[in-house]
Amino acid sequence: TQQHTQPHVAIVPTPGMGHLIPLVELAKRLALRHNFLVTFIIPTDGSPMKPQRQVLQALPNSVSSIFLPPASFEDLPEDVKIETRITLSLVRSLSALRETLKVLTESTKLVALVADLFGTDALEVAKEFGILPFIFFPTNAMVLSMVLHLPELDEKFSCEFRDLPEPVQFPGCVPIHGRDLADPVQDKKNEAYKWIVGIAKQYPLAAGIMVNSFMDLEPGAFKALMEGDGSGFSPPVYPVGPLIQNALIIEAEHENSGCLKWLDEQPSGSVLFVCFGSGGTLSQEQLNELASGLEMSGQRFLWVVRGPHEKAANATYFSVQSIEDPFDFLPTGFLDRTKGMGLVVPSWAPQVQVLSHVSTGGFLSHCGWNSTLESIVHGVPIIAWPLYAEQKMNAVLLTDDLKVAMRVKMNENGLVGKEDIAKHARGLIKGEEGKSLRNKMRELKDAAATVLGQEGSSIKSLAKVAQIWKKQM
Ligand code: UDP
Repeated sequence: TQQHTQPHVAIVPTPGMGHLIPLVELAKRLALRHNFLVTFIIPTDGSPMKPQRQVLQALPNSVSSIFLPPASFEDLPEDVKIETRITLSLVRSLSALRETLKVLTESTKLVALVADLFGTDALEVAKEFGILPFIFFPTNAMVLSMVLHLPELDEKFSCEFRDLPEPVQFPGCVPIHGRDLADPVQDKKNEAYKWIVGIAKQYPLAAGIMVNSFMDLEPGAFKALMEGDGSGFSPPVYPVGPLIQNALIIEAEHENSGCLKWLDEQPSGSVLFVCFGSGGTLSQEQLNELASGLEMSGQRFLWVVRGPHEKAANATYFSVQSIEDPFDFLPTGFLDRTKGMGLVVPSWAPQVQVLSHVSTGGFLSHCGWNSTLESIVHGVPIIAWPLYAEQKMNAVLLTDDLKVAMRVKMNENGLVGKEDIAKHARGLIKGEEGKSLRNKMRELKDAAATVLGQEGSSIKSLAKVAQIWKKQM
């Protein structure tokens, strides 16, 4: 049958829409351009998977998905870090993964398994089945460089990285202060740190690492990664991005698509889009500052609001939607006072359509890597307000290296103040600095289009990977 002659790839995403979205785009390209069969094998943590299912339904016939039985987390303390939970969702699904691979290898020719950045335990399993183990790294080359150097940094420094007197510099990257390194390395006593160091040590198991970034965005970092560290230890690295969703169809999006009509009525380049990704939440106090700051700025805005959360900045990571009505948490009279100037939508907006709209002139973003790439692809300059995960590293790349963003500052109370927010909103939409950031961003937009065009570097890089996999037939 055709199934036996068609090369088959398994993709194993760890929980989080931010991991799934670029993998879905990767799957489409593998299926449509390179003629692979693709099967998503999905570890689940028991939280509702509705948006995930919706995204996976809208795929070509040669892409299918299998949801593994939910892993149990009853033994975990409530304040466990997301990175621990993400990692464990795979670790606790390994026997189910083995069984699934066993069935798939009986009837088809599996040539490669693609794990994501937290999924390195799946690499070992791929090897057991004689399948090429690959990593898809859904963020950038600088973060990959941090992961590859983490075992060495761990041995070299005994203090917390944020207490290092000098910035850290990864090969070919801008210097970065220890406090801006990714969240899970910020507390060496936390279990999440041990997980990450353990994961980092498994990276050399991969036969290759695809990165959702591109040469022109991080030439220095990629060059260094591709040349290797001389130890012959790091796998070949393939820049294949930007892989961004073109139209993520989830229900809430239809409900809120009225915001596109509203955008149609606004002047070109006048609207600041405010959105903290699928998981970002603010405290009530911070929500108030943001509302006042937007109001004070006098700029037009489109704000995706989630209910506040006092303890964690990533409170909706596993569920996407917040439960309560987020409008209840806005300052009294805010909606009336900003009517005409601003539009507030609950929980979710069709972000890519918003960023590609001519009325959108800036993006106040948590700098999740998908959001960052979407902003780059559409040439929209950024106000960087990183919250968790590796977002501070992304913000450093955007501000210090690429110069396409301005970054908000926390005041002595750990809040971003309304004056600061208003100043940045005006500066980005109307000011000279905004103009310069916008021009730089447009250059990146053109570069992104080129790498994905015919003979573009990212297209070639993915073709190289496809060729390696097909040799397994
Ligand atoms: N997203 C969206 N509408 C929203 C919030 C998020 O479409 O209201 C999409 C966004 O376009 C991006 C993804 O969800 O593709 C968020 O990924 P990112 O890496 O930026 O952040 P994360 O959610 O992982 O923190």
